[in-house]
Amino acid sequence: MTLDHELERAKIILLQDGVVGMPTETVYGLAASIHSEAGIRKIFAIKDRPFFDPLIVHISDLEQKRQVIASWPSVADFLAQKFWPGPITFVLPKNPSLNPLITSGLETVGIRMPSHPVARALIEKCQTPLAAPSANKFGKTSPTKAEHVSKGFPDLLVLDGGQSEVGLESTVVALVEENGKDIVSILRLGAITEDILQTALVERGKPFEIRRQTSLASPGNIEHHYMPNIPLVIIEQEGFSLKQQIRDQICQDFQFERTVRAAELRLDTTPKIAARSLYVRMRECSDTGASFIYVFHHQAQKGGLWDAIWDRLSRAASRIYR
Ligand code: AMP
Ligand code: MG
Repeated sequence: MTLDHELERAKIILLQDGVVGMPTETVYGLAASIHSEAGIRKIFAIKDRPFFDPLIVHISDLEQKRQVIASWPSVADFLAQKFWPGPITFVLPKNPSLNPLITSGLETVGIRMPSHPVARALIEKCQTPLAAPSANKFGKTSPTKAEHVSKGFPDLLVLDGGQSEVGLESTVVALVEENGKDIVSILRLGAITEDILQTALVERGKPFEIRRQTSLASPGNIEHHYMPNIPLVIIEQEGFSLKQQIRDQICQDFQFERTVRAAELRLDTTPKIAARSLYVRMRECSDTGASFIYVFHHQAQKGGLWDAIWDRLSRAASRIYR
């Protein structure tokens, strides 16, 4: 079936209160129309997602933002011009008419314009913004390929848009103005890093402050998230092989036989590629039949995109060994 055909099918499903799998450049999403309460409920139901975790709304052109938000500060305009379409979500006051299920009852909403051509084509075809969280069961590893989504949700139509280019969920920033100063609070780390934001805002030349608020303010930041099907442990030591002593300790802690197999999660040395392949490799490790996954956290993997990668890995991990 051609892509156009698939898009047409997806549109029909979405306009009839359904849910479809949608590729984006960050990760794959489960999309529903923001105007369909039944569709939104279906997303929460099939994901086993608690209603306290709000969904991000995806738009394909700036005109659509009116259906979603109540105000659009100039800093949002600036950041949108700079980074949209792309992997950054803005948290802004919600349009009062937006269904509160989408925002978990919050007065704010997360909004993003994805760059993936298939996501854009789908939103354009439906002529409505789409609410879409990542297409995985709640707390589990996000999908970066169509087959990951189909495996988790065999009954869904999933548009295949190839492997997600970025591979990590979007950066989430809350935008507010305080005393003439733009406050950009980073709620979730992602490919648009603090350094990138800093450079852009300095260039803009207006007073601003960047805050990191990645613990409480954003519900998706709960401690255990992105978890593979078997325990993942982080080893914060330089080295490339699992020392017997640590291995024994892990087996003791998780009550494994000392002879069980372990799979090493190897990260690419280039952060961009490490991010893109992170979830694929986590899934591959889970599928090897090993009893646990281990990953070395090297000193050099700090700053920029590495922080976003390690943010996800630490939430996916059952335990850290030093
Ligand atoms: P995802 O499952 O990747 O779609 O993640 C959605 C995440 O975006 C949520 O878990 C929150 O962390 C964040 N988010 C969405 N809307 C809001 C909001 N109104 N306030 C704060 N964070 C939000
Ligand atoms: Mg998610």
